[in-house]
Amino acid sequence: MIINMSEGATEQEIQHVIDRVKEAGFQAHVTRGTERAIVAAVGSGGRRHELEALAAAAGVAEVVPIAQPFKLVSRQVKPQRSVINVGGVKIGDGSFVVIAGPCSVESREQIFSTAEAVKAAGATLLRGGAYKPRTSPYEFQGLGVEALRLLTEVREHTGLPVVTEVMSTEDTDLICEHADMLQVGARNMQNFALLRRLATVKKPILLKRGPSASVKEWLLAAEYLLAGGNPDVVLCERGIKTFETETRNTLDLAAIALARELSHLPVIADPSHGTGRRSLIAPTSRAAAAIGADGIIVEVHPCPERALSDGAQSLDFNGFRQVMQSLAEPLRGPSPQGSKVDRAAAAD
Ligand code: PEP
Ligand code: MN
Repeated sequence: MIINMSEGATEQEIQHVIDRVKEAGFQAHVTRGTERAIVAAVGSGGRRHELEALAAAAGVAEVVPIAQPFKLVSRQVKPQRSVINVGGVKIGDGSFVVIAGPCSVESREQIFSTAEAVKAAGATLLRGGAYKPRTSPYEFQGLGVEALRLLTEVREHTGLPVVTEVMSTEDTDLICEHADMLQVGARNMQNFALLRRLATVKKPILLKRGPSASVKEWLLAAEYLLAGGNPDVVLCERGIKTFETETRNTLDLAAIALARELSHLPVIADPSHGTGRRSLIAPTSRAAAAIGADGIIVEVHPCPERALSDGAQSLDFNGFRQVMQSLAEPLRGPSPQGSKVDRAAAAD
């Protein structure tokens, strides 16, 4: 349930409502907007009728049920958009953030040269996998702690905050020592033990959408993080499984707009995993920007043909520069006056 406070509600009245929500057996989460505060009562096993009765409390405008199964993630609880700070880089503040780097950290030379190249081209965050979720156990699994150390070094060298994947609860503390943002990979979106653990860390989380997850399931996975105490979550659409076989996944662009409509959390796109083809990175990145994404995460490698993972979808440095240039171009050319009429005439 949501207790919408009235515009003139005092701090005391808000505090009273918080106390009553707790007394009724729920957790209270407060969002303070510029005009009014919202107290969300979440949890199970509380006494709902006691919340409904709060409609009569001083300073309360209305008590309404939360329409969606995800609560803290929903815009009903927090209408204003969240801005997530990743080592000083803001995601969700209206800018378009580019996270770039190799699928996997492979060597000092590889990660340093890539970090320098993507920084020079305009990326503000570096990605690089240390622990890799590979479909086959015979494929490269990542350099582990050695990669984490390289990421720390390269951050010191370039100033780029780093994003890397966490696959298990045991690695969490170690990864927190080295990374500025922890990625939950698509395959782990519903690893609830991992989500509960990450809810307790003081680092922002990049939560990828599972390959077969609905938008609702994705937002409920984010709810685990917020409900457990970590409000710093960025959602990432990375493509879903469909009948299409020409692309690795189907980048669900509408889901980006939908997630931003339903939730206050920033949403970015991963056109690399979303398509599996480097030729599609530029157009889908532009499409993501057009549909309202808060940024993209893309794979870049000094020599994609030698990459130990995801070479086919990785851009080389030149390719990445071209993607950055294409993002800077206007989405449409200037539309001459009367062009609509001209198009209609042409169609006749
Ligand atoms: C990755 O980012 O390299 C990765 C494995 O991503 P996903 O979980 O989206 O497949
Ligand atoms: Mn990858």
